[in-house]
Amino acid sequence: MVGRLAGKNAIITGAAGGIGLETAILFAKEGASVLLADISEPALEKALAKVKQLVPSAPRLEIRKCDVSKESDVQAMIESLDAWGGLDVIFNNAGIMHARDDDAVNTPEDIWDLTHNINVKGVWFGCKHAVLALRRNKKTRGSVINTASVVALVGAATPQLAYTASKGAVLALTRELAMVHAREGFRFNSLCPAPLNTPLLQDWLGDDQAKRQRREVHFPMGRFGEAIEQAHAVVFLASDEASFVNGSDFVVDGGMTKAYVTAE
Ligand code: NAD
Repeated sequence: MVGRLAGKNAIITGAAGGIGLETAILFAKEGASVLLADISEPALEKALAKVKQLVPSAPRLEIRKCDVSKESDVQAMIESLDAWGGLDVIFNNAGIMHARDDDAVNTPEDIWDLTHNINVKGVWFGCKHAVLALRRNKKTRGSVINTASVVALVGAATPQLAYTASKGAVLALTRELAMVHAREGFRFNSLCPAPLNTPLLQDWLGDDQAKRQRREVHFPMGRFGEAIEQAHAVVFLASDEASFVNGSDFVVDGGMTKAYVTAE
């Protein structure tokens, strides 16, 4: 099969919805073999049916229930790709933004810990076992993409402190791993999406127009981003076209982090 990711074995976490699912569809279209991983098995089954329907020519598609905050789950998931010829690409994308996450005073400690266990430790475990797998399978190239957020780059007066801190940690750890493993040919990049039209944010905003307007006024393009607009960037970072792109905070935000005031 020809395609920008032909011959590559890829894992996507948080693949049952949003950015992860759109990325799974594009990865399959570009010829990758894809393992879709998520904490929700029923959602994964639906996602698999959708990818199969949209990309009947996909070389290999499988699903796996995995809680990224549990190292044993992540290790077993990544090791399972040895039977495919070994991992080439991992998109550590699973993440949560909890409704009770707030400012310094009001964020409960258990919400802080939950958020960091999934958003930070989950990414660390994905990176750790990806490095071990790339080495074990004697790969001379590998691409690791970790989902951060624009809130790791700019402050927001609508606080979700645990989430913001967790995404800052993703940026920092990704940058450092990019330096540690560069001479092995393993690239590490962060994806920084702006607020999107996905359940993670839209369910949280609900019908609250004031809450929406509070955010939309700051978007230079006047709209939320779409998951597929992130997925296109992930395909690039995963592919050999990005062979000299390493350690980047890859921002896909419609210009949001470059704005002072926006057009009326
Ligand atoms: P989403 O809620 O649609 O998808 C996230 C997926 O992660 C879900 O399918 C969920 O079941 C899964 N998940 C949650 N906990 C998990 C765990 N412990 N183990 C494995 N899977 C788990 O959200 P999305 O918008 O596609 O978010 C994907 C990533 O993008 C997240 O890391 C999020 O923080 C980040 N992000 C989202 C936005 C946005 O506005 N939606 C903006 C910036 C960054």
